[in-house]
Amino acid sequence: MNLDQNPELEAFRAEVAEFFDTAPTEAIREAGRRTTSAFAPFDETIAWQRILNDKGWAAPGWPVEYGGTGWSIEQRYVFSEEYARRDLPPLLPNGLKMIGPLIIDKGSEEQKKRYLPGILSGDDYWTQGYSEPGSGSDLASLRCAAVRDGDDYVINGSKIWTTLAHRANRMFMLVRTSTEGRKQAGISFLLLDRTDYPGMEIRPIVNLAGEEEQCEVFFENVRVPQSSRVGEENDGWAISKHLLTYERGANVTAPQMWRRVQRIREAAQAAPSPYGGSLADDPVFQRDLGELAADVASLEHVEKLALSGHPFTRDIAMPSMNKILGTELTQRLTVMMTRIAGVAALPRQLEAMEVGAAAEPLGSEFELTAMPWYLNSRATTIYAGTNEVQRDLIARTLGRH
Ligand SMILES: Cc1cc2nc3c(=O)[nH]c(=O)nc-3n(C[C@H](O)[C@H](O)[C@H](O)COP(=O)(O)OP(=O)(O)OC[C@H]3O[C@@H](n4cnc5c(N)ncnc54)[C@H](O)[C@@H]3O)c2cc1C
Repeated sequence: MNLDQNPELEAFRAEVAEFFDTAPTEAIREAGRRTTSAFAPFDETIAWQRILNDKGWAAPGWPVEYGGTGWSIEQRYVFSEEYARRDLPPLLPNGLKMIGPLIIDKGSEEQKKRYLPGILSGDDYWTQGYSEPGSGSDLASLRCAAVRDGDDYVINGSKIWTTLAHRANRMFMLVRTSTEGRKQAGISFLLLDRTDYPGMEIRPIVNLAGEEEQCEVFFENVRVPQSSRVGEENDGWAISKHLLTYERGANVTAPQMWRRVQRIREAAQAAPSPYGGSLADDPVFQRDLGELAADVASLEHVEKLALSGHPFTRDIAMPSMNKILGTELTQRLTVMMTRIAGVAALPRQLEAMEVGAAAEPLGSEFELTAMPWYLNSRATTIYAGTNEVQRDLIARTLGRH
């Protein structure tokens, strides 16, 4: 990967910059600045996805025949840098980064035709129904059952922590289709066309920051056709493992992290130090931010190696390493944000957080978002497989070398 200045890459950067400076509405820009978790405000983010899709830029990493851009890895990186620089809302990941690539790799031709266009356009939003009460880290113990009945499966059981299920119109899920043999060998992977089937109930859960982001989902004799299945019956575990590698790895997050470092630096320049001058002049602050910046630089290096397909990054432990590095760094950045915002981060201002809110925030946008970001980031080391479990996976993988 070579990001040295060259005329073609610079022309590409200028084209992207021009589009990002003109295409998003003010509401989309505000949604980006108000993003305090991996899930940007829903309506504005979908509106932004539609604009990007009209331009052909919604899924740069997808193969061209399915709607990807065919860009070089350098172009994709430049795109991410310009995106982050403007605080644009990150597109919601479940469709474009998870189930879309999975359907491209493992779905039938019929499933590709049926589902990929809606994922690209933003018409369809997919929620991920894996975890259950009692089956999180030990996901293979899941019990939500699908029993054959004629051409259908009849589903009974429940899911939990299902992010944005209350906003989604489709769901991919794991169900138990057999209780014989190893628990991993009795799981199937289904694509649900709707989230309002008779017998399906979705209840939002209020999170630490006071927002409704995750849900519980209950199934009582919900009938779905057997053609909803991806792959063979009882082969869902292998399919879900394939999907998890997209969820945990192959992301470009360093440009966003650099933007956060920059926002922290700017906020520190505006914040008075108790010892005179601004907080940005404080040697302790400078040391702490320097340490964070050094770690962002390491992450950037690893992500660039991964994008280049370096052999080191093809190790099966790589997605786990990426997940740990990215999430722990996110948490440390948000700790820094709350340290700078200080008491101004304490008031809970849910109404002012809404895009287009009539309620004026009490302080700056940085102070408004610092605490929700801090609180939401507590969950990053839990979801997509906890970091403790990732460390365990890495240890076991290295043990095999
Ligand atoms: C914000 C958020 C969003 C989520 N979104 C979704 C979603 O959209 N769809 C979905 O299906 N799920 C989702 N989840 C669920 C998530 O995947 C699970 O919470 C996660 O896998 C952990 O499972 P658990 O909560 O049951 O914790 P447990 O598995 O009960 O773990 C409890 C503690 O024990 C530790 N532990 C467990 N097993 C081991 C082990 N073998 N070795 C070492 N330590 C261990 C864990 O690290 C953790 O600290 C989400 C969770 C959160 C918090």
